[in-house]
Amino acid sequence: MTIGRTLSGQTLDEQEESYNVSLRPKHLAECLGQKTVKEKLSIAITAAQQRCEPLEHMLFHGPPGLGKTTLASVVATEMGATLRCSSGPALAKAGDVMGLLTNIGTGDVLFIDEIHRLSTVVEEFLYPAMEDFKVDFTVDSGLHAKTINFPLKRFTLIGATTRVGLLSAPLRSRFGILYHLEYYSTDELTEILHRTAELLRLECQEGTLEQIAGRSRGTPRIANRLLKRVRDYAQVKGTGVLSKDIVEKGLKMEQIDPLGLDELDRSFLRALIRVYDGGPAGIEAIAATLGEERDTLEDVVEPYLLQIGFVRRTKRGREVTPQARAHVGLA
Ligand code: ADP
Repeated sequence: MTIGRTLSGQTLDEQEESYNVSLRPKHLAECLGQKTVKEKLSIAITAAQQRCEPLEHMLFHGPPGLGKTTLASVVATEMGATLRCSSGPALAKAGDVMGLLTNIGTGDVLFIDEIHRLSTVVEEFLYPAMEDFKVDFTVDSGLHAKTINFPLKRFTLIGATTRVGLLSAPLRSRFGILYHLEYYSTDELTEILHRTAELLRLECQEGTLEQIAGRSRGTPRIANRLLKRVRDYAQVKGTGVLSKDIVEKGLKMEQIDPLGLDELDRSFLRALIRVYDGGPAGIEAIAATLGEERDTLEDVVEPYLLQIGFVRRTKRGREVTPQARAHVGLA
């Protein structure tokens, strides 16, 4: 490979390394925040390792971007297991799961993201696989139909979902370990950003990472995304170093307000106030007004607005609170 200086002053090797940098922690010790979940997970992993057994099936639930996929891959790494990933919508037929399960080795981890979106057929096909490590597969149909019983290796299924309420009771009860991931505190997000800045070799002035963390809606994925946007801004409009002024301007360009709400959050609140007199309004109606998917509003927008007390959920629909009205200037 040719080694030479590029425009950025890095060698091609160095540059390649920085393109490939993965922000996802690989080991439990690198995961910051979620103290309780990490502690319980560490005990479960150590206990399983001491007994030389695969881990029980696990379910991680909570809003997007809090680390469900990360924890699943951390569990596989800590157990020295192979990780296989899929998602609810990708597993449409029993045959799709069959292919995955029959190739799985003892102790391997099968991760299914958005597990609440599995079809009933696939869900029912998974029950014996999770409970007795076997599957009953029907080939042919009518007179020639035959059910073949396949034994499986002992594996660990890790499911992730943003909507645990949509999981059927039989599926939920087959998970031995259920963890709810909470929003991160500003201090925890600041620590995460310190790690990210180090990985990205980014120079930051005192207090800038706290500034970004405070506007990241308690979510590591958002914190990392904002840091990267501000890094771009600093590189193009400044000297590449993060200063408080650069961060402020970069976040303003991203339309992130002092509470960390973005344009979609504010449109949600404004629609509820202007079109529905502050509510109560159904989520379908608000989605239609905004021209957005209902799922996006329920998964991405609402949880944080509920958390900070800007929206209330009542039997008749969503309502805004006086704090939300004051925040968007429509008191
Ligand atoms: P989810 O699956 O819940 O949507 P992810 O696991 O994809 O969320 O996490 C999003 C990003 O946030 C990851 O790429 C990782 O960089 C970062 N992240 C998540 N949890 C942590 C953590 N505990 N410590 C450090 N970074 C984290």
